Amino acid sequence: MSRSIHFADRGQRARTAASEPDVLDALRATVGAENVLVDAQKVEPYAADALKEKFPPEAVVLPGSAREVSEVVRLANERRFPVTARGGGVGYTGGAVPVEGGIVIGTDRMNRITEINADNLYAVTEPGVTTYALQQAVEAQGLFYPPDPASYKNSFIGGNIAENAGGIRSAKYGVTKHYVLGLEVVLPTGEIVETGGRTSKNVVGFDLTGLMCGSEGMLGIITEATLRLLPLPEATRTVRATFRTMSAACACPPAFTRARVTPVAIEVLDHSSIRAVEAEFAFGIDPEAGALLLVSVDGHPEEVERTSRVVEEVMRELGGYDILRSETREDEDRLWDVRRALSPAIKKYGTLKFNEDVVVPRSRVPELIERVEEIGRRHETFVVNFGHLGDGNIHVNFMCDRDDATAVRRARAAVRDTFAASVELGGTISGEHGIGYVKAPYLGMALDAATLETMRRIKRALDPRGILNPGKMFV
Ligand SMILES: Cc1cc2nc3c(=O)[nH]c(=O)nc-3n(C[C@H](O)[C@H](O)[C@H](O)COP(=O)(O)OP(=O)(O)OC[C@H]3O[C@@H](n4cnc5c(N)ncnc54)[C@H](O)[C@@H]3O)c2cc1C
Repeated sequence: MSRSIHFADRGQRARTAASEPDVLDALRATVGAENVLVDAQKVEPYAADALKEKFPPEAVVLPGSAREVSEVVRLANERRFPVTARGGGVGYTGGAVPVEGGIVIGTDRMNRITEINADNLYAVTEPGVTTYALQQAVEAQGLFYPPDPASYKNSFIGGNIAENAGGIRSAKYGVTKHYVLGLEVVLPTGEIVETGGRTSKNVVGFDLTGLMCGSEGMLGIITEATLRLLPLPEATRTVRATFRTMSAACACPPAFTRARVTPVAIEVLDHSSIRAVEAEFAFGIDPEAGALLLVSVDGHPEEVERTSRVVEEVMRELGGYDILRSETREDEDRLWDVRRALSPAIKKYGTLKFNEDVVVPRSRVPELIERVEEIGRRHETFVVNFGHLGDGNIHVNFMCDRDDATAVRRARAAVRDTFAASVELGGTISGEHGIGYVKAPYLGMALDAATLETMRRIKRALDPRGILNPGKMFV
């Protein structure tokens, strides 16, 4: 099997042993003929993720159980063809696309929530349940599953775990790995293992659950997850404020901590983001503002009333103006419309967006933004910054015209310099989107040689034939 990525092959179907008639027959015998797709039209929806770069699989296999996944993976080992697991296909780093050909294992059919246990605060789900469906199901029982990637309506729980997805609620509640109690995983050699369990405490053996979280479909295929739940907070409130400068806005998170308030979400928009949403949607925000903050708190209604007032006071003291505090759910929704309007609004700055998700210790966000703006000027590339100020995870968007090769080259250079700046500031190159094949060339900027080699050794130990998701992370 080739170990390099053949970008020239994009759009064409690779050919490995997966296309052999006897292999396809064996796959059909395992999962049922109707669950093996080979027609070009039928595999097309599985060729790309949110990056929209196409690598059509030779076949798509849709198993219905861990046993079926295991048999498919064993066959792939025997005949040495690549296998790539796929969830909702809304990843941003090409993780779910078969860059070296072979089959895609789609988890679409494994979409049942098998247990919601309120007494012991956990849910058991198959990997193909969407984040939204899980949230709705547990909320109907007064329970709460906090991880909330913005892609939640389309992303699957399996994909969330494999990417260790975060979201706006990470400021208070952390990321997906903080909610994974146990997993059933088909290893790259076909064995089915159970990691962790159903208790919140469990220190028996190595933490294989932790190893699988964020492993980007390279160490195993998740076939079941036991997820930690919390009681559903009774109330939420949001406060929105504008600031003259980004530094003034960035002074708020430590001030909230000093005031002993932990907001659920602290989202920031920079000057260019504000101008874009104002120009497109006219929310009535000062177009000269240097930054806008959206801060939410949750909990008991009385507590939420108190903490939202503290948030408002802190923001005012630090120079916040045009401050709005939600009174009702509808108000709150309206305040968040600004954030939701961002992605469509910034399209006016270019037809191609390099959407990076770098992260730094949150006190260093102002330095990061300054550095990124300087990088944008140096490479003559327009940049828009917004994101999760509460955890220092900023979406840096370099905008250019996709048909202008020089502009695209400049934007790529700006991305590389931004990664370097993030690492220098004590952060790293991805806070939530992962590495996939897109960021693989930059992994060495974020990890030292010994750490990288340790990861390679783990990969080799679990996947000696290199069949699971080749062409990703290590290139
Ligand atoms: C509009 C938009 C907004 C987004 N917002 C956020 C955000 O707020 N926070 C965030 O963290 N990310 C965000 N993302 C990125 C993305 O949605 C997340 O990474 C998400 O977790 C991907 O889930 P998925 O089911 O689509 O996974 P896929 O894209 O299908 O797969 C992603 C990776 O997981 C692996 N995988 C999938 N299923 C399994 C399985 N069962 N077992 C093992 N490996 C598996 C794949 O092989 C691949 O490497 C966003 C993306 C978009 C397009």
